[in-house]
Amino acid sequence: MKELESSIQFLPGVGPKRAELISKELGISTFGELLRFYPHRYIDRSSFTRICDIRSGDAYVQLRARVQSQEAGAKKLSVMLSDGSGIIEAVFFKGTKWVAEKLTVGSEWIFFGRPQEFNGRFNLVHPEIDSPDRALSQGSGRLTGIYPSTEKLRNSGITGRMMNRMLSTALNACMPEIEETLPEYVLHEKGLCGLRDALRNIHFPKDQAALADATRRLKFEELFYLQLSLLKQRYIRSHGSRGILMPKVGDAFNRCFESLPFPLTGAQKRVIREIRDDMKSGHQMNRLLQGDVGSGKTMVAVLSALIAVGNGYQACIMAPTEVLAQQHFRNISKYLSDTGVKVALLTGSSRAAERREIHAGLEDGSIGIIVGTHALIEDNVRFRGLGLAIIDEQHRFGVEQRSKLWAKGAGELPPHVLVMTATPIPRTLAMTLYGDLDVSVIDEMPPGRKPVNTIHATDGKRLRLNAFLKSQIALGRQVFVVYPLIFESEKMDYKNLEMGYEQMASDFPFPDYKLAIVHGKQSNEEKNFNMKAFSEGRADILVATSVIEVGVDVPNASVMVIESAERFGLSQLHQLRGRVGRGSEQSYCVLMTGPKLSRESKQRIELMCRTENGFELAEEDMKMRGPGDLEGTQQSGLPVSLSIASLARDGKLLSEARAYADRILNLDPGLSAPENELLRRELRKDCYAVRDFSKIS
Ligand code: ADP
Ligand code: MG
Repeated sequence: MKELESSIQFLPGVGPKRAELISKELGISTFGELLRFYPHRYIDRSSFTRICDIRSGDAYVQLRARVQSQEAGAKKLSVMLSDGSGIIEAVFFKGTKWVAEKLTVGSEWIFFGRPQEFNGRFNLVHPEIDSPDRALSQGSGRLTGIYPSTEKLRNSGITGRMMNRMLSTALNACMPEIEETLPEYVLHEKGLCGLRDALRNIHFPKDQAALADATRRLKFEELFYLQLSLLKQRYIRSHGSRGILMPKVGDAFNRCFESLPFPLTGAQKRVIREIRDDMKSGHQMNRLLQGDVGSGKTMVAVLSALIAVGNGYQACIMAPTEVLAQQHFRNISKYLSDTGVKVALLTGSSRAAERREIHAGLEDGSIGIIVGTHALIEDNVRFRGLGLAIIDEQHRFGVEQRSKLWAKGAGELPPHVLVMTATPIPRTLAMTLYGDLDVSVIDEMPPGRKPVNTIHATDGKRLRLNAFLKSQIALGRQVFVVYPLIFESEKMDYKNLEMGYEQMASDFPFPDYKLAIVHGKQSNEEKNFNMKAFSEGRADILVATSVIEVGVDVPNASVMVIESAERFGLSQLHQLRGRVGRGSEQSYCVLMTGPKLSRESKQRIELMCRTENGFELAEEDMKMRGPGDLEGTQQSGLPVSLSIASLARDGKLLSEARAYADRILNLDPGLSAPENELLRRELRKDCYAVRDFSKIS
């Protein structure tokens, strides 16, 4: 019997019922899985907090105190503890009889628990109790692991001490079976400790140094295999999977290029070259194009589409909203007027007759470029030869929708895929989310842009704000006013929007001022009508919810007012701000908030006022909130869940692991050398089965 596969129900004190609960709450059912469940923090069991030093916010405290008195109520037992510096109450709701017998008045114990503040005083609910001799016999300086837990686990008596006991038993039983997962030469070159030492010291650290070694080893292992698996997929794709060969740039490209209304930026040129190289390589392109709002991704999309057309194929550009699709269609038609390439627009609101005509045009190949929304991926949309699929603001699309587009290729071969995003993603996250994609970055803005002046204001400044908006409108500029719309509080949010609109309408009376309003509850016609009124300059102020924000381009708009700005995430604020500052005029972003802000909101607002660099904002956002919460990543999700490394904190180790994995693959792409046999075997394990983004994006 392999111990690693034994059920945790056989561990002391567990049994089938608790085992089931642990499996449900933590996803752990075997000894082996338990060993890979790491403490999230450690406490030094040899040092004690004085009762008078307990502060709100202390996660855990350890006290050495005497029992002063006991008071048994109907349902609870209250015990007063004193350590000479102060007095604290310990409360027990369960096993009260047993506790009352044990904690006799005058006896001394070690208490360990989470202090709770109650009526301005602290108490400990169900602290762990240890005898002072036992604690001392564990030796001083001993670090004890604290494991992530849940309310349910705590309530059914699975305490920290019990976790420690379970781990100690499992570790001893499994030790002879634990096999190294990294090749000898990797351990040696990277100076890492072996897996047995690492597991022992991560759960029961000998000292701080041993803990640090164990942590580094386990983090490296995790990040290294993640990157090895991603890079291997990328390697296989770029060397293995055939793609449509597009040897030339073609006439359409050249004609459009010559009639461009502006010279391309250096970054745009570089990116187009990268795309062009992919398309003529004979392998399928799978490229992510990252570029901040306003960096000019549309032009790159157009020129790439023309390469496909010039080689006898079709291209499609899919946008997440109808408003965006229409805007793309208008701009692209303008750019293509001299090329003779036929462009069409297909959205949910295209009429039946129009739809039939477009379907026919796509099937007979007369339409070269199709712009649209989700309507493009419906089953009855068939192409004569789709050579390039471009997806704008990819994070708005689900995985399935993207793969459907992928399947609409020409004959045997899948289309080239270009995914565009304006959501700057921190480098470490990009390496993981898109580790198997090739990435191009537009890191240069078109010339002549003035930085947006970002200002924080509270309601007290409302009158001054209105006066300022009027002065801007008098200069012929336009204004966005955006209200948050959060799913959970949708009703309230609409009420705020409506009230805000009414207030605006009375502060900016018709006919001197013209207002338009756009929100998710309007019909598509209504939305388009209002959007158009604003983008064509017939409305001075657009009042809107955040749902419509992405990508709307109105160069004459110079002010973005964001109401309840504290309710937006950093990336979203950044996206919204990107709507202004597109023309050559000075533009402004006003962040309106309530008078009282949480520390985190304050940090976010200050950061917004300080920098316009999307990548810097994204990095900070990740540091503040962790990678899981980043906007734009919830839907796509991380391809794997990390159990010890953190994308927010371990960026350096991640780069190191990636570079190292890359080097190994370069020397031995198939991992077929004997010293890499272990790598190949490990990669086949389930836990490294990274979702294949190349197939789905
Ligand atoms: P995004 O990257 O956010 O999609 P767009 O493609 O919408 O940005 O471009 C933003 C604006 O910049 C558009 O009005 C576009 O015409 C303009 N633009 C794009 N490239 C250049 C350039 N090289 N020089 C000047 N203006 C440009
Ligand atoms: Mg865009």
